[in-house]
Amino acid sequence: MKIKIWGARGSIAISNADSIKAGGNTTCYEVMSSCLPPATHLILDTGTGFVPAGWHYLNEISQGLHFALLFTHWHWDHILGLTLSPPTFIDNIPMSLYGPVDNGIGPKEMIQHVFRRPFFPVDYQRVCHKMNFHPLENFDVTIIVSHPEGGFQQHQFDHYMTFTQKNQPIPINGKEYNLSECLIITMQATNHGNATCISYRFHEMPTNKVFIFCTDHEDQVSVPLDFKRHLANADLAIMDAQYDLPRYTQKTGGFGHGTPTGIIKQGLIANIKKIGLTHHDPGSTDIFLEDIIMQEAKQAMTQLRENAEFTDLFKVDKTLLTKQDDVFLCYDYAEIEV
Ligand SMILES: [Zn+2]
Ligand SMILES: [Zn+2]
Repeated sequence: MKIKIWGARGSIAISNADSIKAGGNTTCYEVMSSCLPPATHLILDTGTGFVPAGWHYLNEISQGLHFALLFTHWHWDHILGLTLSPPTFIDNIPMSLYGPVDNGIGPKEMIQHVFRRPFFPVDYQRVCHKMNFHPLENFDVTIIVSHPEGGFQQHQFDHYMTFTQKNQPIPINGKEYNLSECLIITMQATNHGNATCISYRFHEMPTNKVFIFCTDHEDQVSVPLDFKRHLANADLAIMDAQYDLPRYTQKTGGFGHGTPTGIIKQGLIANIKKIGLTHHDPGSTDIFLEDIIMQEAKQAMTQLRENAEFTDLFKVDKTLLTKQDDVFLCYDYAEIEV
């Protein structure tokens, strides 16, 4: 499994000479896996990073190009790239939209709201006919399965467990497939103010690798048990570190975003092997990201591991998050092997 970063900026897109290394596209990530059908691209959020992503894959139209779009939530920085990415307007590029239902707004209602007068010149009816909508109402008890031949299918978690316990093949779009050939996607709610926001967990069964996408998630005093299980033992987690701790404490607490210290704490508690920091603040320059955000993360790695009360309480594996590149900054257009 590989992760491609198309956009790692939070809140609003930027472009300036001080932020060239990290880039300025808002949230858009791609999960590349052998468990996806051919020419299907699994995209996490369509922030402005979805504009270059869309251009990049246009040459796959003849191979049956299809986008599976998994949305965390409906804030602008996570959806706006959809309005200006070429595949949105090309009839023979189907799109499947998965996302939460927040205050009555699911994927379909989001499109109806965004593609309309007076906010946008193209009406939703021009684009929605090539879109499949998958509102995720009870996402914490739902799983999405992907198989290279079978495609995508949602199951209730209890239903899915009966197949895993009996080691039986799982039904996907009317046929049955071996679970060991699938990508299994599970979900939990993040802590993001008044928004319903999803963190996705991807378990690639053939390689047994786990990737977590957890953006727009604010530090919590403790890690709730369900969320700890969701994060547990991931090979890679990409998490929201928009604010340094002093700024968070003085000004931005309650805005729905995390800190490097909070992320390292969750990583050690949940036994995560590698962490990417994302949702960079629009005001964070490359130097700020390296000297403040990254340094805070490194300090937290050392301090928390040396804190016996913390390590004993959470039974922390002290060999975790010890190497320099075990925690890194997400930069636009980078690719990471999980
Ligand atoms: Zn955001
Ligand atoms: Zn948000």
